[in-house]
Amino acid sequence: MLKDKFERIHDYLRISITDKCNLRCSYCNPVDLPKGYFSGRTRMTAEEIEKIASIFVSQGINKIRITGGEPLVRKDIRNILERLAKFPVELAMTTNGVFVHEFIDTFKSIGLKSVNVSLDSLNSKSFFKITGRDEFERVKKNIDLLLNHDFYVKINMVVIKGENENEIIDFIRWTKTNPVHIRFIEFMPFAGNSWSSNKIFSYAEIMDLIASKFDFEKLQDNVHDTAKKFTVKDHIGTFAVISSMTQPFCNGCNRLRLTTDGKMKNCLFSKHETDILGALRSGKDILTLIQQCVLKKEEMLGGQFKPSVQNIDASAIKNRSMIDIGG
Ligand code: SAM
Repeated sequence: MLKDKFERIHDYLRISITDKCNLRCSYCNPVDLPKGYFSGRTRMTAEEIEKIASIFVSQGINKIRITGGEPLVRKDIRNILERLAKFPVELAMTTNGVFVHEFIDTFKSIGLKSVNVSLDSLNSKSFFKITGRDEFERVKKNIDLLLNHDFYVKINMVVIKGENENEIIDFIRWTKTNPVHIRFIEFMPFAGNSWSSNKIFSYAEIMDLIASKFDFEKLQDNVHDTAKKFTVKDHIGTFAVISSMTQPFCNGCNRLRLTTDGKMKNCLFSKHETDILGALRSGKDILTLIQQCVLKKEEMLGGQFKPSVQNIDASAIKNRSMIDIGG
């Protein structure tokens, strides 16, 4: 069992399988990322991902999320999914949705039930402005495709003040006749993403805005949920807020992360990384390293800041960019 010094048991692993992405979302990619960027980092092979995952699973990990970069741009993604699907875990994926139509059969054959799709706008022009790519129609069609094939679809919408908070109501309207589960995410600071506290559209602001137009009710949250869930009366979909910045949920955290270059992070905001891939390649004992990494987990937000957002100095936070960590 992977328990930290605050008695939190970790049973959820997020594996980033690539740091490449076909979109250029401003909040995720470092602003100075050159065209055709490739980090050149060593990457875990499919076999190494399976080997490392097996050790986590032997310690009680029962959920694995594949993320990136964009996981569906990795050429051997099918091979990776098939290897991970053999474990007794709930397998999930976060994707930008652009290539989903090419993988529906694979998703079904490996038993994937739930797919998170990132979508920050329901308007093709502002989608282009945020992502730098003209892929809105394809993503929207692919979300419909997932719904038609009965996948449980969560939509991740990063809310950035002055950019897309004016679309929150449209996202709620979408839940009226579509079984989509919208998650409004507070904008978080990462290397090179031009974060500042006045760009956060907070949990409180999101709820006030929605309350001005809709009657909604609270849904039951689970102990490890990052999202506070709600539903509008008579809507078949739901909405939730991931209040990472103003009301973090570190108390119930059960997550660990593996970057595409095989570094373990015990928190999205941890500055410390443990080189699991290097250890695997040189025949060292990985399990002890994993346990030590869990024990180093800080109580809150990687020990790097407090949820008093006005006082955060983003330049003092030591971390990678989100595309490089794996969201
Ligand atoms: N490419 C995939 C995708 O687009 O979903 C997976 C990787 S992406 C890094 C995972 C999630 O992180 C996305 O839902 C994205 O919106 C979220 N994300 C990235 N940067 C963020 C930030 N600065 N604040 C909040 N969420 C962020």
